[in-house]
Amino acid sequence: MKNKVLLMIADGLGDRPCEELGWKTPLEAARKENLDRIASWGSSGIMDLWQCGTPVGTDLGHMILFGYGLPDYPGRGPIEAFGEGLELQPGDIALRANFATCRDGLVADRRAGRIRQGTRELAAALDGMQVEDVQVLFKEATEHRAVMVLRGPGLSSAVTDADPKKEGLPIRPVRPRDGSPEAERTARILDRVLVRCQEILSQHPLNRKREAAGLLPANAILTRGAGQMPKLEKTVEKYHLKAACVAAESTVLGAARLAGFDIYTDPERMTGNLDTDIDRKVELAVKALADHDFVVLHMKAPDLMGHDGDPRGKVRAIERYDAMAGKVLEEIPKLTGFNLILALAADHSTPCERREHSGDPVPIVVAGKNIRKDQVTEYDEIHGAQGGLNRMTGHMFFQFLMDYLEVVPKEGN
Ligand code: ZN
Repeated sequence: MKNKVLLMIADGLGDRPCEELGWKTPLEAARKENLDRIASWGSSGIMDLWQCGTPVGTDLGHMILFGYGLPDYPGRGPIEAFGEGLELQPGDIALRANFATCRDGLVADRRAGRIRQGTRELAAALDGMQVEDVQVLFKEATEHRAVMVLRGPGLSSAVTDADPKKEGLPIRPVRPRDGSPEAERTARILDRVLVRCQEILSQHPLNRKREAAGLLPANAILTRGAGQMPKLEKTVEKYHLKAACVAAESTVLGAARLAGFDIYTDPERMTGNLDTDIDRKVELAVKALADHDFVVLHMKAPDLMGHDGDPRGKVRAIERYDAMAGKVLEEIPKLTGFNLILALAADHSTPCERREHSGDPVPIVVAGKNIRKDQVTEYDEIHGAQGGLNRMTGHMFFQFLMDYLEVVPKEGN
């Protein structure tokens, strides 16, 4: 029977022993009977996403789990642009942007009073602008954030940030970071774009209304983190695969879109936090499995608790993740027409003691009726290290899953 893979990813899951938990890791300390059941149903191991001892970001960690490597990483700008639903083309320059308030030539507030409402209208007023032969795409993101894309021939991402990173300073003129004509041209055009942004935004009726209401106008754009979209083959094309991703977080959705995965999300009910609706997530994952071979089901909360340095909070997040795994297990007997392989992974460790990502390996499982069973019956960093999958890189893990889908060509004859 045809195999399909459901890959569950707990963001930032891996951790270190915490004093507050009697020197157990949050995963060891959590009640997680469903995750343990999955571990006993297959093979366990530990995984270094890129290489041993190298921390990775959520963006790169997910790119690796979706079939790419560090040399493919285009920078934060392009992944955020994909996350906001912009479909980048090779050569496009993507930048992270802020709506800001400028007064008398100085940045008075880098976040325009943390503007929340109306950024869609403001972004629409900037989207589609043309400077020389370059087209500007502009899309609002959460709160004061946005993404800008420059599309045209001969552009370069080797340009400096316009964001002065501090209030009371002027917007920084964009400079080329190397001597190439492309960087010089991009810096010149981007400067002109930012001036046009100020002209358009300061006359926008929404900003007049904001000022009348005593709010800071969002009358300028600050850019940073330019990245150029490389020529990347989509994972779904490379492997002739139908893949989908169920997630709420835009970085994860960005990496998934970049790989050509179909997106299943529900901003009303899925939050990227502890209160996310796990019933809805599992419902979407089951729906996606009907016509996709590879489905990713992501949960953000463990990473947030790691960044907060909150071991008990991380235990609670893991127990939510376990509840989600329980709902997946309930659904498996109802799935017909294919054999489900269930995989557990994480995009990196976020140890509570460090409050930041680390290079500690993460626990992995591949489970199913036709998967070799090892002796491991608990899902955590310690037991995983004794399992049949041993220790592998993120790329090896992805390739291993792909081979169960029978999309990896045989080498030799
Ligand atoms: Zn993180």
